Amino acid sequence: MTTKSASQVFKLLLVDDNELDVLNFQRNIKKTDLRTKIDICYNATEALNKLANNSYDCIFLDYLLPDIDGLQLLRKLRDMAINTPVSVMTSQGDEKIAVEMIKNGAYDYFTKNEINPDKLSKVVLAAVRLWDAERQSEVAEKQIIENNNRLNAILESTRNLIYAFDKNFNLISFNSSFKENVEHLLKLNGFVKTDINLADIPLNTELKDELVRNIQRCLQGEQFTILQQMSFRTVTDNQTPWYETTFNPIINSLGEINGVSIFSQDITDKKKIEQDLLKAKNEAIAAAKAKSEFLSNMSHEIRTPMNAIIGLTELLLEEELQLPILENIRSIKYSADNLLVIINDILDFSKIEAGKVTFEQIDFDIRNRLEELRKTFEPRTNEKGLIFEVTTDADVPKIIKGDPFRLNQILFNLVGNAIKFTSEGKIAVHTSISQKTENMILVKFDIIDSGIGIPANQQSRIFESFTQANTDITRIYGGSGLGLAITKNLVQLQHGNISMTSKEGEGATFTVTIPFTIGELRKIADKNKKNTESVDLSNLNILLVEDNLMNQFVAKQFFKKWENELIIASHGKDALTILKERNDIDLVLLDLQMPEMSGFEVASAIRAFDSEVKNPSLPIIALSADAFIETRRKVIEAGMNDYVTKPFKSEELFNKVLKYTQKKLAH
Ligand code: ADP
Repeated sequence: MTTKSASQVFKLLLVDDNELDVLNFQRNIKKTDLRTKIDICYNATEALNKLANNSYDCIFLDYLLPDIDGLQLLRKLRDMAINTPVSVMTSQGDEKIAVEMIKNGAYDYFTKNEINPDKLSKVVLAAVRLWDAERQSEVAEKQIIENNNRLNAILESTRNLIYAFDKNFNLISFNSSFKENVEHLLKLNGFVKTDINLADIPLNTELKDELVRNIQRCLQGEQFTILQQMSFRTVTDNQTPWYETTFNPIINSLGEINGVSIFSQDITDKKKIEQDLLKAKNEAIAAAKAKSEFLSNMSHEIRTPMNAIIGLTELLLEEELQLPILENIRSIKYSADNLLVIINDILDFSKIEAGKVTFEQIDFDIRNRLEELRKTFEPRTNEKGLIFEVTTDADVPKIIKGDPFRLNQILFNLVGNAIKFTSEGKIAVHTSISQKTENMILVKFDIIDSGIGIPANQQSRIFESFTQANTDITRIYGGSGLGLAITKNLVQLQHGNISMTSKEGEGATFTVTIPFTIGELRKIADKNKKNTESVDLSNLNILLVEDNLMNQFVAKQFFKKWENELIIASHGKDALTILKERNDIDLVLLDLQMPEMSGFEVASAIRAFDSEVKNPSLPIIALSADAFIETRRKVIEAGMNDYVTKPFKSEELFNKVLKYTQKKLAH
């Protein structure tokens, strides 16, 4: 504040060419209460010189001057940006001059005969007050402008849209980014506008309604952020830009909400990266799925011809053959068996990848399983001259609950590897309990061999899929490098653990722990198996439903061995016709994958409530190229009695046929 107190000296400039008037002025000013200092000039030129070097609180100006008149002087002052208040004096009152002078910036006007101390002091004080106020508002204005510039610089420095509405939905301010966007769109729509309002913003009705709703919500005092797509700017790939928009109430000096400020951040790029990532992820998942499905289909398809190869070589091996031919056929059988293991691995692997593996929860005798394991591998260990030990601690319970098939698969894999990579010494499988609670036990299986071992630098990798410890492995020992990856997955999916220790050249120990529930101690009937394949099946009528000629041929060969002439139906309808006509069929062997009518449909038709077949409850054994537990479950659900996987093992097929025809055979 620059307001002067009464004690201050007022600097005055008097411009007048009349000595008497000057004297009169001086006398009257002295009589006022003001302390003043007066400079006197007798013409305009003198006055301009003085003003160029001094500043005054007030100028008293005689209108009539010898050089230029008061009006011209006023204009000159304005040109020189001198803002000192000017009070004009004339000899006689002249309204026209007065109006002209005020128009040109004089702040006051009076006649010389009005001069008295009171008048002069009023004029001086009013002039000073006026000028102070002017100066103050100038400063304030300057501050406002500076503030505005600063705020504008911030608003304009962003690509984000900043705009505000009053409570009547009039657009009251916006940054240039907003303006550019809206103008751009207006132009696209054929409009040229400088004052933009809500109604002009080229958003669709839905978005505009949403905007109105959001403004209303914000006018209630709520601050919030939303995510939306708005067609504000056009983007190259035709994608509507994404904005993260924040609504903020504007509060006036009375504390009332009188508008809404909106900040829309363009997050299109961020969103695009997000979407691209998601797309890439989905594509990767789809590709992985396609790969799994392809592998699964391929291996499934390969199993069918494998059925013929393995079945027929098995039959050939039963003939009396000369040595070189016998050896060749044995080699074929050995290779075919190996090939089947690989195909099964791939099938399993693709199922694991697709997350389609399920586990049974059934009671089983663990010692029986281990005995089976011993029996299965003993011929091979004997052949290689290896000691084979299968031992089980006494405190391992007799019956446990879990998945015996998967356990078999895990142990068969590990023991198979142990034998494969050991040429002398010993293979041991030891089963013990690692932990026990009231109803859970953690069973530990150690598979120990004295084989080639695994180099230290390979040990961490062998559980990965398609990995073998060194590049010679396939050439020398065969295999796909999938076995351990599958085994590890099967163990982990049952919440178990697998680990390995090995010293190159000295052997390897694989340790598997799997938690099992302690099974119910019920008697598991000891199945007294008939002496395999010695029974004559000649008086049985067995219907084989199979579309594939090669499979028909293989099955026929098997049954011929057991003196049985199979009845063949090449498709489901054929089978149903036969079963409607004949009531002497003892058993149906039903292929599951057939065109037109699948095995499941045939079984349903036989078992149906209104079935037209002569004996709707006759035993049905499904034949399928896939070995999935789910398929087995579906087979039982469809009302079939049992299941044999192709390529079938002669003994298994024989035993199952026997099981469901025993009554008839006993007669
Ligand atoms: P493969 O089908 O090749 O045997 P696996 O996944 O079962 O695939 O095994 C991967 C690799 O781990 C094998 O190729 C071999 O190099 C190594 N391996 C597995 N078990 C043993 C073992 N008992 N002794 C030595 N090496 C082994």
